Order: sequence, then structure tokens, then C-alpha cells
Amino acid sequence: MAAVRTGGCLCGAVRYESTGEPSFSLQCHCRDCQKSSGSAFVAAMRVPASGFRVTHGMPKRFVKGAESGNQVTRLFCGDCGSPIYIQVSSRPDIVGLRVGTLDDPSEFRPEANIFVKSAQPWVHMDPDLPRHDTYPSGKSYTGA
Ligand SMILES: [Zn+2]
Ligand SMILES: [Zn+2]
Repeated sequence: MAAVRTGGCLCGAVRYESTGEPSFSLQCHCRDCQKSSGSAFVAAMRVPASGFRVTHGMPKRFVKGAESGNQVTRLFCGDCGSPIYIQVSSRPDIVGLRVGTLDDPSEFRPEANIFVKSAQPWVHMDPDLPRHDTYPSGKSYTGA
């Protein structure tokens, strides 16, 4: 993946850049991700918060308690509504980037499906990828 990843929302009002290696690439099937995306799951990449910055515009935020007890802040474009990234209260060092907002999302390689307990029956999952009912043990939960 490129050293600097860039991306933004559908209308272009919010733009960001991200440097640093992703620590976890995942597909999250939790109900909150389904609701906020309007789809079956969210493809997300955890990237270092220190290397992430919004370069244009100001995303709106929505904060909601997650099943884990964490407060999850979901940042999205107030003009076009695109969900862009999340931050979790317990892990201020990490940003969960919505992969679809990258200018080039093609290099995303999911490592696992998480919150499979609420996965939709009509979703096809790669049989070679690990599936976790909630989040994988050993990886601290940062939502998606
Ligand atoms: Zn927008
Ligand atoms: Zn989720």
C-alpha cells in the first residue's frame, strides 16, 4: 500500500490523508455498522491516529456506546452523509478508516470477519478468513 493514503467523502467536502501501516484490516458485521452503512457489513482498516489527519472540511460526529462499553465516535460528512472513520474511547491511538472512502481501496486485504454473530444470512464470506462471533481475542476492540 502507498506510504500516504488519501481519501474523502462522496461529495469531496471532507478529505483526509493517512500514513503508517494498518494494524488490522477487517469486515465488521455488527448491527451498528450495518445501520450506519446501510449495508451488510463495513470494511475497515485500523491505522495509526498519529498519521491520520483531515486535510479539508470538518466531519460531523455521532457518539454511541458500543457493546464493549466503549464510546464509539463515528465521523461522517455532514453534506453527503458518507461515513468516513471512527474513533474508540479506549484506543485514542487508532483510527478505524472506512475502506470505501479511500481514493484507491483496491489494495485492502481483510484479515478477518468480526461480529459474525449478527452477520446477515445473505452475505457471502471468504471461507479462508477467520470468523469471530464478536471481536478477536488478543486484539483490543476498536469497533469498526
Ligand atoms: Zn461529503
Ligand atoms: Zn461494527
